[in-house]
Amino acid sequence: MRRLLITGGAGFIGSAVVRHIIQHTPDAVVVVDKLTYAGNLASLAPVADDPRFAFERVDICDRESLARIFDAYQPDAVMHLAAESHVDRSIDGPAVFIETNIVGTYTLLEAARTYWSTLEAGKKAQFRFHHISTDEVYGDLHSADDFFTETTPYAPSSPYSASKASSDHLVRAWLRTYGLPTLVTNCSNNYGPYHFPEKLIPLMILNALAGKPLPVYGNGQQVRDWLYVEDHARALYLVATKGKPGETYNIGGHNERKNLEVVTTLCDLLEELVPAKPQGVNRYRDLITYVTDRPGHDLRYAIDASKIERELGWRPQETFESGIRKTVEWYLTHEAWWQQVLDGSYQGERLGLK
Ligand code: NAD
Repeated sequence: MRRLLITGGAGFIGSAVVRHIIQHTPDAVVVVDKLTYAGNLASLAPVADDPRFAFERVDICDRESLARIFDAYQPDAVMHLAAESHVDRSIDGPAVFIETNIVGTYTLLEAARTYWSTLEAGKKAQFRFHHISTDEVYGDLHSADDFFTETTPYAPSSPYSASKASSDHLVRAWLRTYGLPTLVTNCSNNYGPYHFPEKLIPLMILNALAGKPLPVYGNGQQVRDWLYVEDHARALYLVATKGKPGETYNIGGHNERKNLEVVTTLCDLLEELVPAKPQGVNRYRDLITYVTDRPGHDLRYAIDASKIERELGWRPQETFESGIRKTVEWYLTHEAWWQQVLDGSYQGERLGLK
C-alpha cells in the first residue's frame, strides 16, 4: 500500500483522483487543500469515512504546515493539483494565480525536497512528485491538423496558463538541479461530475434548467479537446505510480468540439431528459446568447496523447457522447450538491458552521 499526498484534492479533478484511488486501489491518501471557493468537501463525501482517507486544510504556500504533514504522513508520492484554475478569474485578478500556482508550487517543491532528502535510499528512489498541468501552456493551434505533443514549445496566452507554465518549469528544474524525481502531465479540458458551475458545461446545464441565458463567447467557434474527468483520474494514477521520472505525458480525449457544438449538444440532451421546460422557454437552444469574447481567447487546443497510450497503456473509456450524457444525468440526480454551491452554503458546511 502506498500513501499519496494529493494537493487540491477537494477540487474538481483532485476529488475524482481521490475517489478513484480509495474506491479502486489499495492505496491511502492525505488531501492537502486550502478550501478556496473551488474546494468542496461534499465532493469527497463518498470516501470521507474510509480509514485510508485523511484531510488537512492547509495552504500550499505555508511551508511549516507542509513540513509537518510530510513528517506525519511519510508519503510515497505527491500528486500536485492545487491551483487557481479559472481563466476568466485570472484575467480579472492575476495576483492569487501567481501566489498559488507559482509560489505555492515552489513552496511545495521545497517541502517535498527536504522530506525526500531524508528518506532511506530505497524509499528515496521510489518517491515521485507528479505535477498536474494543462495543455493551455502550449498556447493555441491555428491549423486543423496540428496537435500538441510533449515537445511543443510553451506559448501561454492568459495569466492562468502563464502561471501554470511557470510552475511546470519549476518542477522540471527541481529534477534537473536537485534530482527530485518529478513528472509532469499536461491535459486538455475536463468535464464530468462535481464540476464547479462557473465552468462551461455545468454553467450551461444549470442555466438551461433555470431558464437563464446560455452565454457563448464570441462566435462560439473555439475548439477544445474534452476529456471525461474519471478518464483523467485513471491516467493520473497510472502516471504517479508507473510513469518515468523526468518524463512529460500529454493526456487528451480525442474529442475536439467547438464550444457552440458543446452547448447545442447539452440543449439537445436536456430536450430529451427534461422535456418539461421552465416557464417561457420554448426550446433550450433559444436561450443561447452570444457575448463579447474573452480577451486573448485561444482558438483551438488539441492533444496528441499517443505517448501515454503507447508507454503506459492508458485509453479513455468515455466518448464525448457517452461522457456528456453521464454528466447531464449526474447534474439531474445531484441537485443537493450544486444547490449548495449556488446558494453558497457549501462554504458554511466545510467550515463546520452548519
Ligand atoms: P479546481 O479549481 O476545481 O480545484 C482546485 C483545488 O485547489 C480546490 O480544491 C482549491 O481549494 C485548492 N487550492 C487552491 N489554492 C490552494 C492553495 N493555495 N493551497 C491549497 N489548496 C488550494 O481545479 P481543477 O479543475 O480540479 O484542476 C486541478 C488541476 O488540474 C489544476 O492544477 C489545473 O491547472 C489542472 N488542469 C485542469 C484542467 C481542467 O479542465 N479543469 C485541465 C488540465 C489541467
